[in-house]
Amino acid sequence: MPHGLELAALDLLPTRPDWAGGLRQAWQPGEDGARQRLAAFVRRGLKGYGAGRDRPDRAGTSMLSPHLHFGEISPGTAWTAVDGAGAADPALAADAEAYLRELGWREFSYQLLFHHDDLADAALRPEYGAFPWRDDPAGLAAWQRGRTGYPIVDAGMRQLWQTGWMHNRVRMVAASFLIKDLLLPWQAGERWFWDTLVDADLANNAASWQWVAGCGADAAPFFRIFNPVLQGQKFDPDGSYVRRFVPELARLPDRWVHQPWAAPSAVLADAGVRLGQDYPRPIVDHAAARPRALAALATLKETAS
Ligand SMILES: Cc1cc2nc3c(=O)[nH]c(=O)nc-3n(C[C@H](O)[C@H](O)[C@H](O)COP(=O)(O)OP(=O)(O)OC[C@H]3O[C@@H](n4cnc5c(N)ncnc54)[C@H](O)[C@@H]3O)c2cc1C
Repeated sequence: MPHGLELAALDLLPTRPDWAGGLRQAWQPGEDGARQRLAAFVRRGLKGYGAGRDRPDRAGTSMLSPHLHFGEISPGTAWTAVDGAGAADPALAADAEAYLRELGWREFSYQLLFHHDDLADAALRPEYGAFPWRDDPAGLAAWQRGRTGYPIVDAGMRQLWQTGWMHNRVRMVAASFLIKDLLLPWQAGERWFWDTLVDADLANNAASWQWVAGCGADAAPFFRIFNPVLQGQKFDPDGSYVRRFVPELARLPDRWVHQPWAAPSAVLADAGVRLGQDYPRPIVDHAAARPRALAALATLKETAS
């Protein structure tokens, strides 16, 4: 990550549009920033991490991923600090273990990449090479810009664009939406994340996309399809994450914030939302997309048998 202050001193930063403003606010690159982030996490974030790590509406994770990626802190340092905190305080032990498990996933991704250097391009399960993906540039662009009409997906894609980072739960939901609701190849999503994440990491990104697509090394079956409304309601129950990144929906009552198309027109009018103008209608109907994805998967099984 180029250091913004150095570029500013050299007068090399474009001032308009200031596309990096959100990144500057969100991150302090370098070893000091990494150490501060780890210390703050151990002090304030570790307690409750096990459950809180799934809540995008809370600051419940360490946000160390870009620092780990760029080697500004080592996984060993993070491991030792968290393991030590868990050993010193039994009340933290379960949360510490949950955190160490995530570091374990990172190591697993690296092991996969070591053995499969085409991990970002080729499905580990070869039958997925024949998957009947759709070609839909408009759908891909809507997903990239956070304009799918599904608020939790759009909030995540806009968080990514504004800050260079997206919460893990929402990465899973947004990736599932691209692959299973839009039936677009997981590699297209992998590339977009590669271009936009501050923690873009060849191993973690490729392994995670293959995990969501169900074509990777571990048991994440393709037929497990996230419902973006239920995911939003469960993990962002009062919609505060959506309201933050999709401000045009900020005034909708909690009940409708994850499914504005279902809100009565008086509620929409009260909240100042004109669907199709201020905020898009869903670009795909999840209820119809689910069986379509399963039918696409079935063609693989037919080919294999
Ligand atoms: C589709 C998709 C793409 C992803 N792309 C990347 C990527 O390019 N770079 C990246 O670092 N992570 C990626 N992840 C994994 C995960 O989302 C991020 O590591 C995590 O959100 C980073 O936030 P954090 O540091 O607060 O995580 P924490 O919850 O605090 O976890 C601590 C560290 O463990 C590691 N980690 C956590 N979850 C995972 C995981 N599922 N797989 C591998 N390592 C993990 C990361 O290094 C992370 O910094 C991706 C996940 C998905 C579903």
